[in-house]
Amino acid sequence: MQTPNATRRQASAALVRLVPRPRPLAKLTPACLRPTFAPRTVCLVRKLVHRPRRLRRSPALRNLVRETQLSAYDFILPLFVSEKLDQRRAVASMPGVFQLPVKEIVDEARDAQDLGLQAVLLFGIPEQKDEQASGAYAENGIVQNAVRAIKSKCPDLVTITDVCLCEYMSHGHCGVTRIDGDDFHVLNDETVELLVKTALSHAAAGADLVAPSDMMDGRIGAIREALDAGGFDQTGIMSYAAKFASSFYEPFREAAESPPQFGDRRSYQMDFANADEALREVALDVDEGADILMVKPALPYMDILWRVHERFGKPTAVYHVSGEYAMIKAAAEKRLLNERAAVLEIMTALKRAGADIIATYWARELAKWLRG
Ligand SMILES: [Zn+2]
Repeated sequence: MQTPNATRRQASAALVRLVPRPRPLAKLTPACLRPTFAPRTVCLVRKLVHRPRRLRRSPALRNLVRETQLSAYDFILPLFVSEKLDQRRAVASMPGVFQLPVKEIVDEARDAQDLGLQAVLLFGIPEQKDEQASGAYAENGIVQNAVRAIKSKCPDLVTITDVCLCEYMSHGHCGVTRIDGDDFHVLNDETVELLVKTALSHAAAGADLVAPSDMMDGRIGAIREALDAGGFDQTGIMSYAAKFASSFYEPFREAAESPPQFGDRRSYQMDFANADEALREVALDVDEGADILMVKPALPYMDILWRVHERFGKPTAVYHVSGEYAMIKAAAEKRLLNERAAVLEIMTALKRAGADIIATYWARELAKWLRG
């Protein structure tokens, strides 16, 4: 009977016979890389010409070869301005986000500008809602007043206005509706007429860019034509060109007080399964005169973002939405991840995927973090 040691010796001799000894390789390998283990052990180290890790050895080397750099200029800060408030009110579903009265909006805008941000995006919450969304295009509506206030104190801050009707409609849909028994329809052309009036009133108040977010057909062309005819040929359009019906908008609806009272938005926002259709939607907006193309939401739609950026070569924006924000906030609160590291990674990934502009509720923090 063999001892256990003898059995092991026989097994290792059989292994050596099966595997050729790596003599030629050992000769080519620099001294520092030669194996120091026992001579009969198989050497798997090849002579490497390419060693990508060389450029990852130090922070300075990594900084030198970094392909995507974030800057405060990349971000738009969304702001919610409310006609109903005397003082700011926290949005429970979005920690760190507030609804602001007009009297505070200027300070908020000035702070954003002092941090190095270039642009804010305004959403309005009116005192009254109705079936014609009349607050959306009122000369002294909440957004119109906020734009005038901001531009009087911060003329260089790019002031963008959300153009939609949902915050102003008593039913919370983005357009004029017609009820047929249990069915309802959002009427396209009737809605576009009101969107045009809204965009014109924002331009008259001094908005630099209007941002239609409703997804009605033909609204970009109609708004462009009306702006030009009204003497606002320098007012740009940031089109929510590919906006998907997404579950990630939920917390926003608390912030903007705009949940639909019945039905959902799938007859106008896009089916999240469709990418080719998104490109067709974007192509229409390009033809109709959009200056900036937006994809919304962000992370689940990076394939769309990349394709829009590659295909159209126009300034491309992405909206990192409330649900995406709330998820990271919740995880950070539970100490499951580091908020700052995760946010920098997400924003860099969005820029890498083709975003020239990112609307994000972290814009302020990002501007501070990027200052170092
Ligand atoms: Zn809407």
